[in-house]
Amino acid sequence: MISKSLAVPPQHLRVAFFTMLGVAAMAGALNGAVALGEWVSRAAPTSEPTPAAVKAEPQVEEEAEPAPPPPAFQFDAPLPGRVINSPFGLRQLPWEENGRLHQGVDIAAPGGAAVKVAADGVVKATGVSPTYGRYVLVMHKGGLTTMYAHLAGAAKGVKRGAYLHRGDTVAFVGNSGRSTGSHLHFEIRKGDKPLNPSFFLGRSFAEANDLPIKAAGKVSRKVRLATVSKWPDSVAKAGKTAGGVKVARLKNGRVRATIPVVAIQAPGAASTASSTGSSV
Ligand SMILES: [Zn+2]
Repeated sequence: MISKSLAVPPQHLRVAFFTMLGVAAMAGALNGAVALGEWVSRAAPTSEPTPAAVKAEPQVEEEAEPAPPPPAFQFDAPLPGRVINSPFGLRQLPWEENGRLHQGVDIAAPGGAAVKVAADGVVKATGVSPTYGRYVLVMHKGGLTTMYAHLAGAAKGVKRGAYLHRGDTVAFVGNSGRSTGSHLHFEIRKGDKPLNPSFFLGRSFAEANDLPIKAAGKVSRKVRLATVSKWPDSVAKAGKTAGGVKVARLKNGRVRATIPVVAIQAPGAASTASSTGSSV
């Protein structure tokens, strides 16, 4: 019958079939062996500690207290060794009638002095403002920002997106914007809220909850009269042309001159227009 003769393949075909099967099985086994060998040789150095590593870890160290993690927030003075000569708080400038919030601290330093970034952060903006002059704004963890103003200029490579480590030079001291002498105006903010930098500089905080946001955001009712080395040109000039200088003798014997000034506001500047000259 035809079907019977087909069911049994000729002898030589069967031999070829089993030979191929055998070769394939051997190849597979060989691959497996090679892979296993590679894995063992790779794993060996790490799975077996060297005698030196064992010696370096004596039994007692396992019970020693682990080193505390580094503080999450650390702030350094932007001009190390220099003093704050105008603090955060309500301040009245000699040519103003009322006190206004000085939203940062002023640190006097010669022009060109290197300004250090107070904490690790990323540059958010650099620019020029009529009041702040040349400035650099840096973003930090926890929604905090620091600002460096009245600069001669930003340091090399300091532009939006640049990462800065605490202590890196961010800018150089200048006298740009509405400033009465060479100094750094330095601010710390949480969102839009200005904070007293004295609560932060030279201090570190383990975690965000330790930041003195509430205390640093408080503004004393006391108005401090600022002493300035020179009056800004805008105030002096406007005073001369307007002419209407009012001189008042105060109860404490001090004499105050009030000079009407038309605020010079650059287009696009934040509207803090006042009737007198201002300083930040
Ligand atoms: Zn200032």
